[in-house]
This record gives sequence, structure tokens and C-alpha cells, in this order.
Amino acid sequence: MLTGRFAPSPTGPLHMGSLITAIASYLDIKASGGQWYVRIDNLDPPREDPSATAAILSSLHNHALEADLDVDYQSDHQQRYAQALQQLQSQLFYCTCSRKTLAKHERYPGTCRANTTPLDDAAIRLRVSDHTIRYTDAIVGEQIHQAEAFGDFVVKRRDGLWAYTFATAIDDGSDSTHVLRGQDLLHVTPQQIYVMQQLGLSIPTYAHIPLLRFADGAKLSKQSHAPALDDTRAAENVRTALRYLGLQPPRHENWQPAGLLEWALEEWPNHQLPQELATYAST
Ligand code: GLU
Ligand code: ZN
Repeated sequence: MLTGRFAPSPTGPLHMGSLITAIASYLDIKASGGQWYVRIDNLDPPREDPSATAAILSSLHNHALEADLDVDYQSDHQQRYAQALQQLQSQLFYCTCSRKTLAKHERYPGTCRANTTPLDDAAIRLRVSDHTIRYTDAIVGEQIHQAEAFGDFVVKRRDGLWAYTFATAIDDGSDSTHVLRGQDLLHVTPQQIYVMQQLGLSIPTYAHIPLLRFADGAKLSKQSHAPALDDTRAAENVRTALRYLGLQPPRHENWQPAGLLEWALEEWPNHQLPQELATYAST
């Protein structure tokens, strides 16, 4: 079964940028006859907002983005991640380099590669061997990367938390056939594919959509103080998000979110996404 996901981190409520990604991932998989689900990427409690998950889920519901599967939580996948770590045992090492030392290097210089016996208070890194990673992004096109260029990367952080890159590679390789997300994550894709290949998981199809940005170029995010969606204006929000994606829902129809999404689903297969999104304008 074709499966696509929307995977917000519960760091705050949805904003227009996240709505665009949610809608695009929904339309993309639904238009292929697949199923869509929501995965809450809650592996970083210090960065999370305790009210965010409930706010995100109710906002998705208010915007008629109904999932075909139960909500999935990365925090429920501890065993899966531990098993993957086990499987990669022979390629792991324990890194005690300080942030300051590492800041001097473009990529990890391999300093701790010899530390192959477990150490406390150390990050766990995957020793990367040279390898070419090729994939075709449905939006960005053909991508070719040398694993050497990204270097040995962290799979489990020094504070004991799983690294996003690693956990998400395992989940996507296990559960999703399609990954549609923002271009801010394009750079982690080769590392994630590398992890999937090492674990023998299947590689999803990737599509990285352009980001919604403020006039100064900053992407909409919690850090850039993107305003939360106003759920009482859900139909207008969906309309706006579709327009950013280059679709023009007819003005005269007094559609609710579900009707707008249904209309967009018909359009999607023949639709070309814009290379850039229009600059964000608050409404
Ligand atoms: N949870 C990540 C974020 O909100 C996205 C994960 C993904 O789509 O791979 O930025
Ligand atoms: Zn190190």
C-alpha cells in the first residue's frame, strides 16, 4: 500500500508553512490512491511544547486533513531504534568531541573512530564508508552525493536522545513509501538513505517542496515567530495554502476545507508545483 506521512515536531502550533506541507503530502499520496497518516516527531522533549501535539492534531482536523491510520508517535518506536542500533553495531563508535572542537570542522574529522567500546557521556556516531547515494527527488530532480562528504554522523546524542536523522530514516524506511516535506530537509536525505541502505530498508520516493518565507528570506518557523493558524478561519487557510501551491480554487464556491481539498485532489495529478512559493503575507 502506498503510504505518505506528515511528520510535525510538537514544538508549537501549525503555521501556514506547516499547513502547506501537510496539504501537499496529503494531496500527493491521496492522488496516488495511497493512505496518509500523521507521525508526531516527539523525540526531543527539551524542545517540545506540552500542548503542541493536541493543538496540531485538532488543527489538522479543523482543516479537514483526516488521516487514514492512527496517529503515530516516534516516542513509541524506542525498540525499533534500539534494534537498528544493534544491527549497525560494527559501524558505531563513541564520540566525546566538544561542540567547540567540532565547530572548527566542516564535517566530522573522524577523531573518535577508535572508540568502539561503549563510553558513558558520549554521542554514538555511525562510521560512514565511501559510497555514492543517488536518488531522484520528484521536485528537485536528480541528486548525487558522496557519503564521504557528510562524514560520520550522530545516531544517538550525548544526552541519550535519538538523533532526528537516524530515527526518521528508520521510520520512513519501515512505514512510508512517499516522503513529501520541506526543502529545509533536503540536506539530510542522503544520510537518511544511507541509514536505510545499511539496514536493508526500502527507500521511499522523495519530494521536497519549496519553503514559505517571510520577506526577509527567513522560513516560517517557531524561531522566526510564524503566527499560529487561526482555526476559526480554516477554509480561508486551506484556500491560501492551495494558492501558495499554485492552485486556484474557484472564488465563487463557498467551500469548506473538505470541499476545497476534494477539488484540489482532482487538480493535483496534472498540477505543476511552483519552483518558489510567493512570499508570505499575513492575512
Ligand atoms: N519533524 C520534522 C520537522 O518538523 C520533519 C520531519 C520530516 O518530515 O522528515 O521539521
Ligand atoms: Zn569525536
